[in-house]
Amino acid sequence: MSAPVLDLDEVTKVYPGASPVVALDGATFTVEPGELVAIVGPSGSGKSTLLQVMGTLDRPTSGTVRVVGDDVASMSDRDLAALRASRIGFVFQQFFLTPQETALENVAVGMLYSGVRQRARREAAAEALARVGLGHRMAHRPPELSGGERQRVAIARALAGDPAIVLADEPTGNLDSVSGSAIFELLTELNRQGTTIVMITHDRELAARLPRRIEVLDGRIVADRAAEGRAA
Ligand code: ADP
Repeated sequence: MSAPVLDLDEVTKVYPGASPVVALDGATFTVEPGELVAIVGPSGSGKSTLLQVMGTLDRPTSGTVRVVGDDVASMSDRDLAALRASRIGFVFQQFFLTPQETALENVAVGMLYSGVRQRARREAAAEALARVGLGHRMAHRPPELSGGERQRVAIARALAGDPAIVLADEPTGNLDSVSGSAIFELLTELNRQGTTIVMITHDRELAARLPRRIEVLDGRIVADRAAEGRAA
């Protein structure tokens, strides 16, 4: 049996300070290959902290995080960077694209640290852009693209290295409802094609359309449930 893509066991995160904040309190769950999971909760509930810890961008105060079977606690920052580059694709609300570079360059740069040669990087980038429906916009720069198209470029960048999991933090948060729905549909379609996705959202309606929802409140996981029906 293959290892879960993500395995969190009693993960706690405390931000130190005059009055320390317990941002995560005993988070325990696994994500299996092929899943599409929503992490839902109000502002301040700990979703971003959870994303940082799941994505190995930050270390937990206590507890265990495993990515595809590897316990990240024993890894150096350099090893973690390599793990992220090869295993995890990130999509953020703010896109984080370089405005001076073309869509193709923005996607190819995501594989810079993967050991893949430049020519192969550009081919994989072109393929990823085609998958997100932007095959005809590869030479455009972000200012020449709509918000929805920019998020597609960011999704292509997350996919290009063929990661084990895509972590999306409020991927529709900066988009109007029509573009947001299209991005949501794209992510569900990518999942149908086999990509494992965890999507963070404060939008309960959106979350309700996903096959599994993990609800966070005050740093605790208060529910982890499968929807009655799969997303349309
Ligand atoms: P969400 O993404 O659900 O809005 P966060 O994970 O950003 O929640 O925040 C969870 C809690 O941790 C909040 O109370 C927030 O104020 C606090 N917090 C987040 N980041 C930091 C930080 N770097 N230092 C101190 N407190 C933080």
